[in-house]
Amino acid sequence: MAMTADEYRTLSFWHATLPGSLEPRPPLRRDEQVDVAIVGAGYTGLWTAYYLKSLSPGIRVAIVEAEIAGFGASGRNGGWCLGTLAGSERILSDPARRDPARRLQRALFDTVDEVGRVCAQERIECHWTKGGYVCVATAEAHREQILHDVETWRALGFGEDDARWLTPEECSARVRCERNLGGLLLAHCAAIHPARLARGLADAVERLGVAIYEQTPALALEPRCVRTPGGRLRADTVVCATEAYSRTIAGQVRRLVPMHSMMIATEPLPEAAWKEIGLASRETFGDPRRIVVYGQRTADDRIAFGTRGPYFYGSGIRDRFDPGFAFFARVRRTLESFFPIVRDFEVTHRWGGPLGVPRDWRPSVGLDRSRGVGWAGGYVGEGVAASNLAGRTLADLILARESELVRLPFVGPPFPSWEPEPLRWIGVGGLLRIGLALDAAELAGRRTPRLRGALWRIFVH
Ligand SMILES: Cc1cc2nc3c(=O)[nH]c(=O)nc-3n(C[C@H](O)[C@H](O)[C@H](O)COP(=O)(O)OP(=O)(O)OC[C@H]3O[C@@H](n4cnc5c(N)ncnc54)[C@H](O)[C@@H]3O)c2cc1C
Repeated sequence: MAMTADEYRTLSFWHATLPGSLEPRPPLRRDEQVDVAIVGAGYTGLWTAYYLKSLSPGIRVAIVEAEIAGFGASGRNGGWCLGTLAGSERILSDPARRDPARRLQRALFDTVDEVGRVCAQERIECHWTKGGYVCVATAEAHREQILHDVETWRALGFGEDDARWLTPEECSARVRCERNLGGLLLAHCAAIHPARLARGLADAVERLGVAIYEQTPALALEPRCVRTPGGRLRADTVVCATEAYSRTIAGQVRRLVPMHSMMIATEPLPEAAWKEIGLASRETFGDPRRIVVYGQRTADDRIAFGTRGPYFYGSGIRDRFDPGFAFFARVRRTLESFFPIVRDFEVTHRWGGPLGVPRDWRPSVGLDRSRGVGWAGGYVGEGVAASNLAGRTLADLILARESELVRLPFVGPPFPSWEPEPLRWIGVGGLLRIGLALDAAELAGRRTPRLRGALWRIFVH
């Protein structure tokens, strides 16, 4: 049974606080022909449509969305518009690819401002505030990790304006958390209200002439055609922008693993509490735990905070969680370990959602012109900014523009397949448990091996 507008509001704190109606747009009810058909109205699909229409106003673009725009991770995330890309450290550490990797990194940094620019231009009120990301060392091992990261940024040619070490005093001037051994300030991060961005972007692309068919699931991707329950959408190019949900399309169950990330939001905190916590510039905050913890001060003075969640057997996807679901208590305890004062306040919202993890931990953007198929995603939980860069790049690829973007080293082949079950469950679940155990040991002051790079990308969000 299709969800109602009221049910969509219960998906997350962000959906609950969206202005305007969540009444679904009409579905596709007959066969249609366009130039570009996009499957999925999350950031990837919407940004691709936005840049296609901005660059080539005459192009016919339509989006089919199984639920409503912003239903997936794009409406439910931590709201960190962060200028990094999962897996990019592997490209950056390869001397042969150093220059393209630096260009990719600079493009990602600039993308944070590009999102802010489009929001201002299109009047998307998503509370975009660029306060940077403060990664606090809450254990000695974190301090070593962060110092190593700062050295790496420097060696790659990025300056203090991009990323710098904060002494414990400098750190607590921004984020006053219980344990503070110093930290990293990454300047290129803005806090946003994620669902406002997704919904605002959907309105913006509609204004540009893109058709969005909601409650229209793609059942199968056929050659130059998307099959849906109400009709076929034929197109020269079909873009698959379903990320963690790709398994819902025939034949794609092993394409991207859906990992879940779990979030809570507190009630609005009074000024006295903010004096203790900091975050005066709405910095996003976390520490270098393997399971990745991420928080922001919302525009209405709550803390929205999350950490990685479970993988469900068979690449199962859950969009709604019982408030008693065990992970939420862990998320709350973790938040309290940063700021004990939050114990005095209520948690008003609890939610979670899936993010897409590719088998090689490498996000990919690409176009197979001979088959008329385009793709982007696999951001491993770092897709808010990256999906903008991916959408711009995909638009250039489709329009055959010889831009700088199409030469960036995240343009590549389609995602390799994951192993069949039960291997996925054993592998992904096992790594998660190991990560949790190693994090706990580090927080207790013990030394653990820190595998830098691909293996631990699973712990991102
Ligand atoms: C809880 C959580 C916290 C996160 N925090 C952050 C963060 O702070 N910063 C960050 O950078 N990243 C974060 N991420 C990751 C980020 O949200 C994603 O990388 C990004 O939103 C992916 O966008 P997308 O458009 O590719 O996918 P999605 O937003 O998931 O969009 C896919 C869309 O496809 C639709 N769909 C699915 N199946 C079909 C079908 N068969 N036919 C048609 N449509 C279909 C879905 O309904 C959905 O709307 C987080 C993710 C989660 C879940």
